[in-house]
Amino acid sequence: MGAIGPKNRTSKARRNKRKANWKLTAPSLAKCSKCGALIMPHRVCKECGTYNKRQVVKVEEE
Ligand SMILES: [Zn+2]
Repeated sequence: MGAIGPKNRTSKARRNKRKANWKLTAPSLAKCSKCGALIMPHRVCKECGTYNKRQVVKVEEE
């Protein structure tokens, strides 16, 4: 009753495995809705300066 804390202690091996697995996972990438470039999610696209289909950063075009 009212027990706070883990019921099953995670062993060192299991904890380390979890961390290793996390490191193995590919970095999450989103596709820019405007130019299709791979970008970090929730970040402004550095290719065209668009975020959430809105131009938020001015990008100099050659
Ligand atoms: Zn873009």
